[in-house]
Amino acid sequence: MARPNLLMIVPPKWSNLWTTQLGEGDINIVLHGRDAYAPESVDYVLSFRPPAGLLKTFPNLKAAFSLGAGVDGFLSDPDYPKRVPLVRFVDKTLSAEMAQFVLMHVLMHHRRQRLFDAAQAQRQWRQMVLPRRTEDTHIGFLGLGEIGSFAARHFVDLGFPVSAWSRARKDVPGLKSFAGAGELKAFLGQADILVCLLSLTRQTAGILNAGTFAVLPKGAFVINVARGGHLIEQDLIAALDSGHLSGAVLDVFETEPLPEASPLWTHPGITVTPHIAAISQPAIAVKFVLDGIATFERGERPDNIVDLATAY
Ligand code: NAP
Repeated sequence: MARPNLLMIVPPKWSNLWTTQLGEGDINIVLHGRDAYAPESVDYVLSFRPPAGLLKTFPNLKAAFSLGAGVDGFLSDPDYPKRVPLVRFVDKTLSAEMAQFVLMHVLMHHRRQRLFDAAQAQRQWRQMVLPRRTEDTHIGFLGLGEIGSFAARHFVDLGFPVSAWSRARKDVPGLKSFAGAGELKAFLGQADILVCLLSLTRQTAGILNAGTFAVLPKGAFVINVARGGHLIEQDLIAALDSGHLSGAVLDVFETEPLPEASPLWTHPGITVTPHIAAISQPAIAVKFVLDGIATFERGERPDNIVDLATAY
């Protein structure tokens, strides 16, 4: 049987990282932008954000693999061929990395670590009792999917009151579940620290906006680790400047890399990180792709195929 052709559509600077490891599999690797190929020869595609309109030109495409957990980079293409199964990357190391990132920033805020850093710089021995007790600090997760549910349970273990908002109601020990648009305000109204881990879809785009911030308790802290498209950046800046929000951590942005001229870089209430909260590890992602291709070649369907109706 002919070896299937996998077309990799990745930025040139990433290509070595992926092709070296994929080379061990029983497939032919073709690099978009480097190798010549006929559109009809493409069996599978691996990418994070393929150029809009490209996938529809591959008449024999059997499946597309997303290098990231989010598939907005594929489904923002209005011409994404609906007959083609889209498989997203789900992996426990990705969830663990994200949980670490969220834990670190929640605890830095909750334990007022920045104040102690500033005191150290002044050689000041500055003891203080934390202004807010753990049991009075409500952590709210927007999104309780693969990654959100993994991260949330660590906060339950640490004794924080934890709630989450999702489309379907969840039954998770120690966690209060809110579901659907009708329960969003009630969820937001008690979230002292709001963590966005929603998938980016037409329904969730721009959800971190002025209206949402206004419902959060005064002094709330916001962490967006999902996608830049969830946040209206100028609304965040306004809510911080008014003193309604006490701070924010942003790992993802509408435009990436974040442009040098962006006011987010220097805002005193904002911590910026360069989309590193949880990075797909090549060796693990390569196994996921090779296993997925082998599954399709056997005539079966792998796990984690995206529901194109809900777009996640
Ligand atoms: P997931 O498993 O697809 O979970 C998505 C969650 O969003 C689910 O709980 C889902 O609700 C909820 N949701 C979707 N649409 C909704 C709506 N209209 N109303 C209410 N809830 C809705 O996603 P994941 O794998 O956990 O990933 C979460 C996010 O992290 C994604 O945006 C992904 O792109 C991002 N991410 C970022 C990084 C990084 O480095 N910054 C790394 C990995 C992932 P149901 O559970 O009810 O379906």
